[in-house]
Amino acid sequence: MSNTLFRGLDLIGPDDLVLYHGSIADRHGLYLALPCDCRRCFLDDVAGSTDVRYRLSDPYADDPHARVLRCARRQSITRSAANV
Ligand SMILES: [Zn+2]
Repeated sequence: MSNTLFRGLDLIGPDDLVLYHGSIADRHGLYLALPCDCRRCFLDDVAGSTDVRYRLSDPYADDPHARVLRCARRQSITRSAANV
């Protein structure tokens, strides 16, 4: 994964716990955050966009891919106080 993805993340690093409070109200909650790896976000990154998006996954799901939220905006998540 490109290090450029991690520029300007404002303290949110790979596998940090975050709280999602964005526009999808029934998905609000605690997630593990990674830079979004979908094609659209990849192309935005290549194009030099500074609008970093995140892929959020449920840390408590039996299958970590079962509950995934893609392309979450930075302003839709807050780094959780649960991080040590
Ligand atoms: Zn994406």
